[in-house]
Amino acid sequence: MNQDWRGVVIRQLLLLISACLLVGLLSGEYAWALAVGFGAFLGWTLWQLLRLQHWLHHQTDQAPPHCSGLWGEVFDSLYRLQRRAQGERDGLQAVIDRAQESTAALKDAVVMLDADGNLEWWNRAAQTLLGLKTPQDVNQPVTNLVRHPRFKEYFEQRQHPEPLELPSPVNEQLRLQLQLTPYGHGEHVMVVRDVTRVHQLEQMRKDFVTNVSHELRTPLTVISGYLETLVDNAEQLNPRWLRALQQMQQQGLRMQNLLNDLLLLAKLEAADYPSDNLPVTVDLLLLSIQADARALSAGRNHRLSLEADPAIRLKGSEVELRSAFSNLIFNAVKYTPAEGQIRIRWWADERGAYLSVSDNGPGIEAKHLPRLTERFYRVDGSRAAHTGGTGLGLAIVKHVLLRHRGHLQISSEPGQGSTFTCHFPVTQLVRR
Ligand code: ADP
Repeated sequence: MNQDWRGVVIRQLLLLISACLLVGLLSGEYAWALAVGFGAFLGWTLWQLLRLQHWLHHQTDQAPPHCSGLWGEVFDSLYRLQRRAQGERDGLQAVIDRAQESTAALKDAVVMLDADGNLEWWNRAAQTLLGLKTPQDVNQPVTNLVRHPRFKEYFEQRQHPEPLELPSPVNEQLRLQLQLTPYGHGEHVMVVRDVTRVHQLEQMRKDFVTNVSHELRTPLTVISGYLETLVDNAEQLNPRWLRALQQMQQQGLRMQNLLNDLLLLAKLEAADYPSDNLPVTVDLLLLSIQADARALSAGRNHRLSLEADPAIRLKGSEVELRSAFSNLIFNAVKYTPAEGQIRIRWWADERGAYLSVSDNGPGIEAKHLPRLTERFYRVDGSRAAHTGGTGLGLAIVKHVLLRHRGHLQISSEPGQGSTFTCHFPVTQLVRR
């Protein structure tokens, strides 16, 4: 109820003064009557203040002490405010409880990390998938608990557009997919999914391809061997068969290349990193690939130039890097018409090292670029059939670079030529 409390107080004061004056008139002691009157009023006010202080400190959950007048109104207003705040708190707590209950029920793990990468909160699934323990692990750095080297690298990246796949730190049989998403002021939420089933299917596909490739190798070697013998003894054969045999031999060779590339890809996919991690002298490697490229170009007179900084070496596997770089350089030779220009460069700056292969060949339309590293993806069937490629070259390049923490950039314009650039981070370099 809205009352004019100022009027009430003034009326009460006037009443008090009148009562004091009346007592003063009766007793003849005005000053004493006023002093006693105001003293009593002050005492009563202090008493109410003490009751208020006691109630605020000890019993705010109970109804306030009974009092009439302005003090009663103050008690009631405070009680109403306090009840309203309590109601709002309960509402918010219910929302937080529901959010926590629903994330706790999720099959995916949800982990909240503070701006320093320390664990703040996680749901039940995080305990089973990542082995996080409450409360021991609260405020521990997440990299101490998920100790995989790939995770440390992934966590230290500034952006995380792609999820990361790892075995679970508590159970090698489980395969997890982790995705970090930033929020607030540098905090992160990490969602972890169990992708064991998908991983197993993927593994079955890889095993199938590897087994088929292995099984096909032996019969193909036998067929190619006989074909070679037959072609070598062509003079004893009907000349009509010679061309057919030569074509069979050529296609047999193509199949052998295909099987070799499939087996190489399977090997590259089997482990995250190359087994050897020695500094590779890229300039010498490129020199030897350039010599092979000259042989491949024979008769088509490509102008091949090489500029390589001998001071920069790259940590990794020479065999794998040779395979990746020669795929790029041989592609340039294969697809660039006779007399074309091919430029190979190897250099470094503060962001890492680069190998680029540029040609002034037919170029590639922009719509093909994002899919170029997919297995068997070809820009133009007739172009590929004519060059005898397997369609796996750029897939191999992508995998080798991934294993060396690098990535491939392709820029190309139809009619102008193409540039394939491999970028390696500074951590992979060794400078002489
Ligand atoms: P392929 O064995 O067919 O060469 P790749 O994976 O090496 O397979 O290359 C995929 C496709 O990319 C090729 O079929 C070709 O169309 C295109 N390509 C690759 N390199 C070049 C290049 N330097 N110039 C033009 N097109 C290229």
